Amino acid sequence: MSNDCLFCRIVAGEIPATVVHSTPTTLAFRDINPQAPSHVVVIPRDHHPTVGALVGADPNLAAEVLASAAEVAAAEGATDGFRLVFNTGPAAGQTVHHVHAHVLSGRPLTWPPG
Ligand code: 5GP
Ligand code: ZN
Repeated sequence: MSNDCLFCRIVAGEIPATVVHSTPTTLAFRDINPQAPSHVVVIPRDHHPTVGALVGADPNLAAEVLASAAEVAAAEGATDGFRLVFNTGPAAGQTVHHVHAHVLSGRPLTWPPG
């Protein structure tokens, strides 16, 4: 838990979030600024800054984040498909430095993204 980490504070219940999926090791909640009709952020409860750091420190937890993301997509009804994104580092626009998977669905998702 990092007191200056927004997502750690959501895990701790200090900042409210609309939780859609929860396991002992992961949490998923709706993005406050959705980029698609369904936009859910999936995080490990433990703090790791990036996906690379997470995989290096705890590969089982990384797999649990992916499993939760797939379950979220199914629960959101993303039968036509969904996009799973880990923005990593400044060039990719990562603004919260607690690793998170964006799960986007509910509209056509063009490729390549911007
Ligand atoms: P990033 O830009 O780091 O990939 O994604 C961070 C995401 O967190 C953004 O999509 C942003 O809208 C979302 N976000 C920022 N602050 C909050 C918040 O307080 N609550 C929720 N639910 N999402 C947030
Ligand atoms: Zn954190």
